[in-house]
Amino acid sequence: MLKKFLYILCMAAFIVSAGCSGTGTKEAADHIHKEGTQAKKAKPQTKEAQKEPEVKNQDTHGTENSPDAQKADPVVKPITPQYRINPNNWSIVPLEKSDKKEVLLTIDDAPDKHAVEMAKTLKGLGIKAIFFVNGHFIDSPEGQAKLKELHDLGFIIGNHTQTHANLTQIPESQQYKEIVPLNQKIKAVTGEAPKFFRAPYGANTAYSKKLAAQEKMAIMNWTFGYDWVKEYQNKDALTKIMISSPYLSNGANLLMHDRTWTMEALPGIIKGFQDKGYSFIDPALIEVPK
Ligand SMILES: [Zn+2]
Repeated sequence: MLKKFLYILCMAAFIVSAGCSGTGTKEAADHIHKEGTQAKKAKPQTKEAQKEPEVKNQDTHGTENSPDAQKADPVVKPITPQYRINPNNWSIVPLEKSDKKEVLLTIDDAPDKHAVEMAKTLKGLGIKAIFFVNGHFIDSPEGQAKLKELHDLGFIIGNHTQTHANLTQIPESQQYKEIVPLNQKIKAVTGEAPKFFRAPYGANTAYSKKLAAQEKMAIMNWTFGYDWVKEYQNKDALTKIMISSPYLSNGANLLMHDRTWTMEALPGIIKGFQDKGYSFIDPALIEVPK
């Protein structure tokens, strides 16, 4: 009986011992190995972890500088002006002396039937421009979609009044309605309020000038344009007169409209200016009121 008990005790002790020494040692060894491995890995990981934020920061900067990020928050992008508007003849003057021959392209009464197609043509040619918008074209969802497309294609949007009224013929209360709410409408669609104001017929009043200043918009008339004159309302005549106008000079502010013949003439007009050595000014670089 005692022998049997001792035998059982011994066997139990052997199993426990074997169990502990075998499995336990292996587990412990594994544990140490793992910790060791982790510890060995931990250092490089720590080094990598120290490096990674730098890499990530560079990535983050890359993301911030990506076109998408710029699109997401264009207001933050700092722009150093390189040009100003000459209020005597509305030409665009470089702030620093330049030998470059340049003109500015502006397209009024948009977005009616052709502005988006004109914008796509210009974008394809790498040409910047201002589209001066009338509020009555963006009162519909379709008009708002066109405005958004112009903006998303990278074009500057200007204020050209709500109804294309002659501001010199209406009272101040109406002038206000023509100008100020349109900025809010445009901002609601594009996220940016216009920085340029062009009065219909170039007809400003003391009050419209005051409103433009209050709204931080630069007033901009134009140097020359022809597409509203009967004899130039076809592609060939318009192309020819635009590039050979006696008013053409460096910094000229070119006026065109959202019209069929202007849309058709646009590629030829661009080429004509380029053949004469002119490039096109980026209106985003023109000084505006702060
Ligand atoms: Zn107009």
